[in-house]
Amino acid sequence: MAIWNLGSINIDHVYRLHRLPRPGETLAARGHVCGLGGKGANQSIAAARAGAVTHHLGAMGAGDGWVIDRLTERGVDTAGILRLADQPTGHAVILLDSAAENAIVIHPGANRAIAPAMLEKPLSAITAQDSLLIQNETSAQVEAARIARTAGARVIYSAAPFDIDAVGAVLPHATILAMNAGEAEALFAAIPGPLPVRGLLITRGADGAEYRDLITGAVYRQPAFAVRPVDTTGAGDTFAGYFAASLDRGDTVPDALRLAAGAAALKVTRPGAGEAIPGLDEVMAFIA
Ligand code: ATP
Repeated sequence: MAIWNLGSINIDHVYRLHRLPRPGETLAARGHVCGLGGKGANQSIAAARAGAVTHHLGAMGAGDGWVIDRLTERGVDTAGILRLADQPTGHAVILLDSAAENAIVIHPGANRAIAPAMLEKPLSAITAQDSLLIQNETSAQVEAARIARTAGARVIYSAAPFDIDAVGAVLPHATILAMNAGEAEALFAAIPGPLPVRGLLITRGADGAEYRDLITGAVYRQPAFAVRPVDTTGAGDTFAGYFAASLDRGDTVPDALRLAAGAAALKVTRPGAGEAIPGLDEVMAFIA
């Protein structure tokens, strides 16, 4: 049993400013923080922190070795990460003003330069007992999902950021579709009919989460744990990684929902993304 994750790796550069710049204007930042981000990297860290054997399969540029160190320190196997000499590592420039309003530019770089053929070797070891995680921040999701389903593995697809073309292409190969409330609304507006997946996971921030088993019709609801939020960045990724890891070790859906909600609640009490994702012991103590 293992988790494989074809997921984005981003270097987040966060600049604090009094206010956001106007077109043509140059402003000096009051502070700068550089950290590891990307939905994929966050989900891998969450799955590994939850105790799953986790293989990350993204792509980066040739440098930025600290990113590999950061993932490895948190228990993620990085052997399947491709190093592309002609692409920069994906990165985000995040401008934050004093009212916490933001403006963000993302350059996907290596994340979107993954060709389907590059995945055949790294994914050749996936088995029917494993799960594959995919999101919309890389290329080659369809090929990865096809390889995983052919091997009999579960494919958990986070349809974020929402992109109807990507969703339409990936959905026939997914087992579980995971979305937040906004993404679910956009999806149901675009695809009104039945979805070709076995399960639907919808997270609703402080209103909790639900899982619909589309085979049996069962609906499982999980309230959010009451916490004082400090930073919700990565809450959805923490939930997805913990949920996948919990199913991977054979937990029931209600147990997986409860564990994931506990992990995500702890995450929102801490600033940051990947580095703020809690470990299994503290989550178990929190939900006990
Ligand atoms: P993000 O984009 O910020 O990573 P998201 O929009 O993908 O998050 P949400 O639905 O906002 O995902 O949150 C995911 C889960 O995190 C929720 O289902 C809930 O369990 C937990 N969570 C989020 N916000 C809170 C909160 N304020 N208090 C407690 N739990 C929360």
